[in-house]
Amino acid sequence: MTGNSAWAERAQKALTPNYRQQPVALVRGEGTRVWDADGKEYLDFLGGVAVNVLGHCHPALVRALEEQARTLWHVSNHYFIPRQVELAEALLAVTPFAGRAFFCNSGAEANEAMLKLARKYHADRGHPERNEIVACLDSFHGRTLFTVTAGGQPKYRQGFEPIVPGVRHVPYGDLAALDAALDSKTAAFLVEPIQGESGVIPAPEGYLEAARELTRKRGILLCFDEVQTGMGRTGRTWFHEWLSVTPDLMSVAKGLGGGFPIGALLATEEAGAHLGPGSHGSTFGGNPLGCAVALAVLRELRGGVLERSREVAARLRAALEGLTAAGRVERVRGRGMLLGLVLRGVAAGEVMKGARERGLLVNAIGDDVIRLAPPLTLSAADADLAVERLSAALSAAPARA
Ligand SMILES: *Cc1c(COP(=O)(O)O)cnc(C)c1O
Repeated sequence: MTGNSAWAERAQKALTPNYRQQPVALVRGEGTRVWDADGKEYLDFLGGVAVNVLGHCHPALVRALEEQARTLWHVSNHYFIPRQVELAEALLAVTPFAGRAFFCNSGAEANEAMLKLARKYHADRGHPERNEIVACLDSFHGRTLFTVTAGGQPKYRQGFEPIVPGVRHVPYGDLAALDAALDSKTAAFLVEPIQGESGVIPAPEGYLEAARELTRKRGILLCFDEVQTGMGRTGRTWFHEWLSVTPDLMSVAKGLGGGFPIGALLATEEAGAHLGPGSHGSTFGGNPLGCAVALAVLRELRGGVLERSREVAARLRAALEGLTAAGRVERVRGRGMLLGLVLRGVAAGEVMKGARERGLLVNAIGDDVIRLAPPLTLSAADADLAVERLSAALSAAPARA
């Protein structure tokens, strides 16, 4: 039997060293739990980075994948793909603003398509000069060259220059700065409703509504990146359902396939029509396997998962807020099953390590945030157990110098 350390050694020899990997090789999962190559069991509160909305190996998803695998794997978009059409219809049915869907394989590709469409939309309408993208500092939109350029974290661009021209950044949540940045050269404003990768930072109250007004008045496309916040993660199918605003374009990925790689761009009928014949594409985009699984995920979300997730998320949040009394958690932010704990006086990396040793997988962001993204199917008992383990890890972590 090959254990964790042997896998680590082989990985470090065979793979490009771009990931900072923890000394655990995961070999099996079921629901909220995963097991490593040494046989140790964990509660998985990272969930493949906010991907596994229905946990590991959900029976309905396994069934959908197996059935599709016996029927048709891949044919390309040279032909109509019934599963893809059905998935588009199912997504549009739960996304009233949207009239068109484009499928790809990841969040970065969904954003890439969104940004390309934003430029094409204005170019088609006789305004090729309207090509600038305004995005937010500290945002994350993926790792293609256009999306690292749009992302507001310079570390992801370093060494990869020259970057894509025509992107400007404004501080997240700063309306005056946004107002000043949006002009007659702006094609689109791209924003995460909650900044996930930079530490689960929700947009300030009223910011997205005001951004909608500013962009509408100036003929600028409003683009929501719901790659992390979508597919029920915050207790509604899309985060923006909590608000009274809708975007013109929205990117979706992470939870869409519940762990099967698939992404999508959803667009208003008017904007979506500008991704004309031959203008964009993806060999694997909307492949039958991914679409069959995503259809099953959407069916489950409609079947009561969202309602139950809101109840358990409220319990989880209350328990996490209880940890503030011990002094090492300053506050809890986020929504639903996407939560960030802001730490005080302890290093997030130490807390992550201590939690892992106690059988709980969480994610350290920077020095002082722990991100939790458990499945929407989390049980009350497992929520309590996770908080117990996290609490022990917090108390045991060494005080930060
Ligand atoms: C994860 C993420 C992406 C990138 O998705 P990939 O599938 O890794 O390309 C883009 N935007 C947001 C908000 C994300 O959280």
